[in-house]
Amino acid sequence: MKKKYLSGITVLLLVVFYLFINCYSFISPKALAYSVLSKDEEKVIYLTFDDGPSIMTNRVLDILKENHVKATFFLIGNQIKGQEAVVKRMYNEGNSIGLHTYTHTYKKIYPSRKGFINEMLKTQGEINSLTGIKPTIIRFPFGSRKHLTMSFLEELHSYNFKVYDWNANMSDGIKARTPIDQLYREATKTTITEHPIILLMHCDYMHKNTCVALPKVIKFYKDNGYEFKIINDGTPENYYPIK
Ligand SMILES: [Zn+2]
Repeated sequence: MKKKYLSGITVLLLVVFYLFINCYSFISPKALAYSVLSKDEEKVIYLTFDDGPSIMTNRVLDILKENHVKATFFLIGNQIKGQEAVVKRMYNEGNSIGLHTYTHTYKKIYPSRKGFINEMLKTQGEINSLTGIKPTIIRFPFGSRKHLTMSFLEELHSYNFKVYDWNANMSDGIKARTPIDQLYREATKTTITEHPIILLMHCDYMHKNTCVALPKVIKFYKDNGYEFKIINDGTPENYYPIK
């Protein structure tokens, strides 16, 4: 009788354990991010690099070329001088170029909308003189949150500007020397559930670790069946909810 009672308990425990494992696999972030996606078109990633051009940007371009993928670069206007060849290369190799203000200096860009727009136009002019294109895709330094309102968005649209934030990022923007493994984990973490993925990285002169992590990040998304796209005029805008 006691034996029978014990085996009953064992069966019950096994059932509970089985249910737990199954439920967990349904609700775990990993499942949400990578396994449950059924439609191929949802598996899209945009690799985006802010704060270039710099001497490091060439390394990023080398990696993209070696891996046959393209990316989007949001450039700071006052860094173009001396890096003209990098900007031309970026364009010639099929990458997309966007605007990230002229100075990237918080106190200069955010007090007035006019100042912000003028910085974008100035950067647009410099890129235009080098490549012949007039980029209209823009990214707010530090993100659009706290700065973008409906009326500001309308004003930006009147200049044909389109706004792109991000939904995944490496912390290289906060600390350039973040360890490579950490950068990789951040860029591929299983809690990334929004699609398409817009991944923010940086390519200023100090972002050496980003370049080391980048090939592994590209491999991860290739292995998971992702398509790599670039942001251009036709890409739906993607900004944080406007309050
Ligand atoms: Zn930036």
